[in-house]
Amino acid sequence: MPEQQILRVAVPAPLHHSFDYLPPADTSTEQLLPGVRVRVPFGRGERCGVLLEVVTAADADGRRLKRALALLDAAPLFSAADLALLCWAARYYQHPIGEVVANALPLRLRKGEPPLPVLQRIWSLTALGARQNPLALGRAARQAELLALLLESGGSLGQEQILQAGGGGRPALQALERKGWITLDERLPAEVRAAPTGHPPPPLNADQQAAVAAVDLACFGSYLLDGVTGSGKTEVYLALVERALAAGRQALVLVPEIGLTPQLIRRFERRLGMGLAVLHSGLAAGERERAWHLARLGQAAVVLGTRSALLTPLPRLGLIVVDEEHDLSFKQQEGFRYSARDLAVIRAQRSGCPVMLGSATPSLESLHNARAGRYRHLRLTQRAGEAQPARLDLLDIRSVRLEAGLSPVLLRMLRETLAAGNQALLFINRRGYAPIVTCHACGWVAQCRRCDARLTLHAASRLLWCHHCGSQRRQESKCPECGDADLRTLGQGTERVEEVLAGYFPEAGIARIDRDTTRRKGSLDRLLDGIRQGKYSLLLGTQMLAKGHHFPDVTLVGILDVDQGLFGADFRAAERMAQLVVQVAGRAGRAEKPGRVLIQTRHPDHPLMQRLVSQGYAACATELLAEREAAAFPPYSYQALLRAEASREGAPREFLEEAAGLAETLAGGRVELWGPVPAPMERRAGRYRAHLLLQADQRADLQRLLCVWVSQLAKLKSARRVRWSIDVDPQEMF
Ligand SMILES: [Zn+2]
Ligand SMILES: [Zn+2]
Repeated sequence: MPEQQILRVAVPAPLHHSFDYLPPADTSTEQLLPGVRVRVPFGRGERCGVLLEVVTAADADGRRLKRALALLDAAPLFSAADLALLCWAARYYQHPIGEVVANALPLRLRKGEPPLPVLQRIWSLTALGARQNPLALGRAARQAELLALLLESGGSLGQEQILQAGGGGRPALQALERKGWITLDERLPAEVRAAPTGHPPPPLNADQQAAVAAVDLACFGSYLLDGVTGSGKTEVYLALVERALAAGRQALVLVPEIGLTPQLIRRFERRLGMGLAVLHSGLAAGERERAWHLARLGQAAVVLGTRSALLTPLPRLGLIVVDEEHDLSFKQQEGFRYSARDLAVIRAQRSGCPVMLGSATPSLESLHNARAGRYRHLRLTQRAGEAQPARLDLLDIRSVRLEAGLSPVLLRMLRETLAAGNQALLFINRRGYAPIVTCHACGWVAQCRRCDARLTLHAASRLLWCHHCGSQRRQESKCPECGDADLRTLGQGTERVEEVLAGYFPEAGIARIDRDTTRRKGSLDRLLDGIRQGKYSLLLGTQMLAKGHHFPDVTLVGILDVDQGLFGADFRAAERMAQLVVQVAGRAGRAEKPGRVLIQTRHPDHPLMQRLVSQGYAACATELLAEREAAAFPPYSYQALLRAEASREGAPREFLEEAAGLAETLAGGRVELWGPVPAPMERRAGRYRAHLLLQADQRADLQRLLCVWVSQLAKLKSARRVRWSIDVDPQEMF
């Protein structure tokens, strides 16, 4: 019996396996290259998948298979190593392979559109062509037109320009090429060809030199670059990137969402000059796809991007850097719930190259790995120049009258700071005007109709806004319960603090930085530029302000409320709080001006706060790791979270209970089950939510269970009544 070729295709669908098809009609074996896209029939429609492998089977086995419709690429978009990494990630994160592969493709390519041309097609006159006279072409008017166009424009033009200018169209190009009058040249776009502008690197200090020297570029190794803010981590990255480029390799640099500012991009451009591809979600689809192709074809030597850039194919990958590795934005919180940081380590290992994770406040996971010897721990202890670390102080606000969350002491310090001509920064973790709107007469509170949540008042737009589902309504003028007009607000967000500050300091320019003031493209950069130019002396904002930016003239930082972090429901709350405080504090005193940080708290005696203030983040992290070990929480154990939601109240619980029963019989006592329990906010966007937590001492035990369990979950009857998802190594418990 003859053998039949069968295509194993990753088709975007919520199913965990790949799909088998017969090759499209009229294709030769040589065209069946893994990594090309394939259009396939699927259900009643068609989908665009990616060919994973070609297997052979007895002809009889293939007879019931459908035939794929068409191959969409002449050359593979993914290498065998890329596909293997994607398959690994799909297995590890228990996510359908088709969706994982689709996730790694630029948007247009996902939809089956042809790849954008990356190289510019330039047509030039040959010596022979340059001697021709358009008038002599007689009846070939189109060729004459093209020849004239090229002669007028100095001998060469891009194909797009020729076609736009009329220029006789494609047939004329082909005709002149056949005559040997013009030749085609494919070149990289100008921005990639740009030469380095020759900015010499600043001299590295001893710590930086030691960190650079410690990294072996010839083989896999994980390095944790633990450096206080302002210690020059970026210079270490740049030095390593330069070394990797000099060795003919490509480098991948990942930064958090908010960290990818035009300033950082310019800094990389100035130093590396050529071959930089920037990838982030703010780019237009076309720009992003071009950058992706440049990286994939090895034309871009450096890829600088956010989380999703991790999956970019890079044929000569020689270094991965993950900056601010503790940042939550490296974890995708929906769909394919991968951690770009963790996957970066796996990718480096599979590529045989080093990976550097950098942070001033490393995650407990990474510190644990460093202590266990899996990561090499490199420290940068000196701040650049003469800058001194900021002094942290706790400000006891028990029985203190606050105005919009500001204590009298903090207000006095603000006044002194502004009077001395310096900048001050206030951190408050809530946007909007006030988180609670209530009726003074009957106690009614404005609630979201679709969530178990209160509505936040946004005063400028006079809207009540749910920060969980995004629904909004106009602010009522009277209480909807009792009709009383005495509606009041409690608590404060950035909008209200700004209003109060404007009353106290009418002369000071105030820059408020939160999601509301930075929604429009470019607005964040304008605000940041204004801060650098000294247009604003009071800076006020949410976490957006806490990350990555340098404010050399800020000498006072006020943190309005840290107490949620001390008693948060999530076991990671304290770690996050400590990281946030240190990151915010790091904005101050960057230059020669010493900085001061005031932390308002109702728990000034809390041991964790005390340790953070007196001994710093490292001591705090040591303490938190000891607590995690005692409680057998990650990183001393491994977790997966099964989430379920439905519009009917009981459905998630029924599904999760059935799932738990199944897991119990499969786990054999090696995986603990917690729950099912309702999510911390049970109802969101009109749907009831619950989850089941799985925890094991050994990663292998958890993985073994998940592999069997997840494929069986889909078959449960109760699964049809809920929307469910699995989150391996969850970072948040909602
Ligand atoms: Zn009322
Ligand atoms: Zn809501």
